Amino acid sequence: MALLGACLVAGPASGTGGETRTVRSLEVQILSTMLTDSRGLGEWGFAAMVEADGYRVLYDTGYRPETVLRNAEELGVDLATAQDVVLSHNHGDHTGGLLTLRRTLVERQASALSRVHVGAGLFTPRRYPPQIAQMLGSPFPAMREVREQYEALGGSVHVHAEPVALAPGVWLTGPVPRVHPERNWSPGVRVMRDGSWEPDEVLEDSALVIDTTKGLVVVTGCGHAGVINILDYARQLVPGLPVHAVIGGLHLFAADDDTLGWTAEHMTRHEVAHLVGAHCTGLHATTFLRERLGLPRGRAVVGAVGATFSLGDGIDPLRLAR
Ligand SMILES: [Zn+2]
Ligand SMILES: [Zn+2]
Repeated sequence: MALLGACLVAGPASGTGGETRTVRSLEVQILSTMLTDSRGLGEWGFAAMVEADGYRVLYDTGYRPETVLRNAEELGVDLATAQDVVLSHNHGDHTGGLLTLRRTLVERQASALSRVHVGAGLFTPRRYPPQIAQMLGSPFPAMREVREQYEALGGSVHVHAEPVALAPGVWLTGPVPRVHPERNWSPGVRVMRDGSWEPDEVLEDSALVIDTTKGLVVVTGCGHAGVINILDYARQLVPGLPVHAVIGGLHLFAADDDTLGWTAEHMTRHEVAHLVGAHCTGLHATTFLRERLGLPRGRAVVGAVGATFSLGDGIDPLRLAR
């Protein structure tokens, strides 16, 4: 309860039901990831539209400026009806679409994606090694510049050092305590801390935790905090419920089988019932976890653009990941 006592409820988005109401209706649809089906473009990135009891939030914005905009159009997803957008962390493959989306949608709806929520530390200056910039085809933009341009487009930025209820039953973790020694990020990036450039552990990395009638649904961008650290924290935040689903990037593509085995043991402890391993989870990691968790193929899949998860129907992986 000490943890909950420190939590905040975002004012305008919190509605009237209080932050602890359980979500009865939930749909998560992927709008940016590597694998794609007949509609939409694939890329190294992540974004998902989340709708919980009518509250809509875009979680991450993909890498290339136009991907999420175009994929949403092709999939018939109306982004303009979401006022809130979360940036899970500073990396360009999660933040690259923000300015294009706001600039385009504001012409139709002034409130569209007009509030950005981030974990504390996202705007801390970084230095990226050339090989990471080269891998992605262009350097990551400085998030301070993105912020200035976003605010010039009428957007407001909300930085959270503690968990926050964006809507009743829809939590954003803010920075996740690194209890377990998971090291799920690419080395080489430096962050300015106490006047010197230190190795960047992406401390702002924040997940969505949705308190539903079937258990917790966790949406994560790159999972740099470590999926087990995230799940431990989620269950402290909303005690007494198993993890009904984990959706998004777990950054396990380079993990060895010992690490994956350890991860599977702890996911079993958290009673994970569905897994949509998108973005940087890795193909081998997803099948490895499916086997170790004892899940049938329809409940642990590689995430594709357009794939959905809902409380009523579970995962619709589309064709290739079936
Ligand atoms: Zn990342
Ligand atoms: Zn990523």
